[in-house]
Amino acid sequence: MDIHALFLKAAEHAARFREGDRSHRPGRDYAASVAALSEDLPIHAMSQQKVIDEMVWRAEPGLAAMTGPRFHGWVIGGSHPVGVAADMLTSAWGQNAGNHMASPSAAAMELVAGRWLLELLGLPEHASVGFVTGATMANFTCLAAARSAVLEKVGWDVDRQGLFGAPPITVLIGDDAHTTVFSALQFLGLGHDRVVRIPTDEQGRMIVAEFEAAIQNVQGPAIAILQAGQINTGAFDDFTAIIPMAQAKGAWVHIDGAFGLWAQTLPSKRHLAKDVDLADSWATDGHKWLQTPYDCGYAIVRDEAAHRRAMTISASFLPAASEDERDPSHYVPELSRRARGFATWTMIKYLGREGIAELVARSCEAASAIADKLAAEQGVAILNDVCLNQVIVRFGAGLPDEEGDRITEATIAALQASGDAFAGGAKWRGLQVMRISVCNYQTGMEEAQHTTEAIIAAYDQARGHNSV
Ligand SMILES: *Cc1c(COP(=O)(O)O)cnc(C)c1O
Repeated sequence: MDIHALFLKAAEHAARFREGDRSHRPGRDYAASVAALSEDLPIHAMSQQKVIDEMVWRAEPGLAAMTGPRFHGWVIGGSHPVGVAADMLTSAWGQNAGNHMASPSAAAMELVAGRWLLELLGLPEHASVGFVTGATMANFTCLAAARSAVLEKVGWDVDRQGLFGAPPITVLIGDDAHTTVFSALQFLGLGHDRVVRIPTDEQGRMIVAEFEAAIQNVQGPAIAILQAGQINTGAFDDFTAIIPMAQAKGAWVHIDGAFGLWAQTLPSKRHLAKDVDLADSWATDGHKWLQTPYDCGYAIVRDEAAHRRAMTISASFLPAASEDERDPSHYVPELSRRARGFATWTMIKYLGREGIAELVARSCEAASAIADKLAAEQGVAILNDVCLNQVIVRFGAGLPDEEGDRITEATIAALQASGDAFAGGAKWRGLQVMRISVCNYQTGMEEAQHTTEAIIAAYDQARGHNSV
């Protein structure tokens, strides 16, 4: 078996893919991909190199440049080549990151990368960090710790006894929280509808007076969920006002900061997240602004004991849980797991604090530039304060709502079809909008200009104007 030739082949395919000037639109859609890939179960073995070649030629037509500089859909990081290289090694090394004994380096790198993350993000240095698949599982993990802690205070051990018969927990959450936080509540038996939804302002921030009124009525265990970086507007809840109110009532405060928490790395944006460090837990992503490859997120909890109580997996065949030997599995839902510390460690070491701040600054500047240029076009309105890296755009502004919706949808479709840049859509306050997220290490002012031109061309097409 020629491992060397096999790995080189994979690396060659990988480099060719990343170096090619790829369309931001997949060349083959889902239905065509299913049709092209459907075949009977293979009966015979084939050569190693051929199977990799075949996987590549069969998959590539249905791949888009999601890592490209003008990919502005959802909030998607760029899978930086340096992180990808670390991740290739993570796969090749094949370390199960469950415990420290089996793979000392996997566990130690998580420990060190976790400390670096806390410092970068301005969070308490003794908080514990679990390396999970993304902010969805980070929210889940943190809220499991929250559930454990708030019930322990009233003498109920939810981790042993479950929720049946437990004192009820009040959950307060902003009306514009991310959908995955509601999923996490659902998985934890807290229910995604069994919450107190706090009304929000035009940027999607919780209205402080509404929160204050709601928390006054809370008796017993409570969890308040705040957000750093609303998925459409990039807005932050008012931590300075809200966190002390919640904590005065004994509530656990959790922050969903999948991408917004990274504002903490940039002095000129830190004011947005002021006092975020007062919270009890934080969820954030590696595969967004830190540009690690998929998948990577971090569940950060101030009270390590609550984090461990909610997540520890123990058995006679595993090392005994100890104070000074950190087992990654005690902070995450999984036992067997990818060693995500390697790519995280590598990206932080490679960029450094300064490089990360520059990357965040570049993304924010590019987002502002796109917003400013678009706002200057006739019939285009920017619906949010572009405080960070997210922009929401309305086309056909000033026309009746339905007509504006139609033009906005047509603009998004024309942009996506062009392959020149990619942005998706959403509803904001009942109106169709285009969502633009800048979260890629390659996106700067030049790319912002290119994206803006592509969007204006798409808008012209949608309005039935010929673009020049
Ligand atoms: C992306 C995002 C999530 C979900 O994170 P995943 O990495 O997709 O699991 C949660 N909250 C916010 C604010 C996000 O932007």
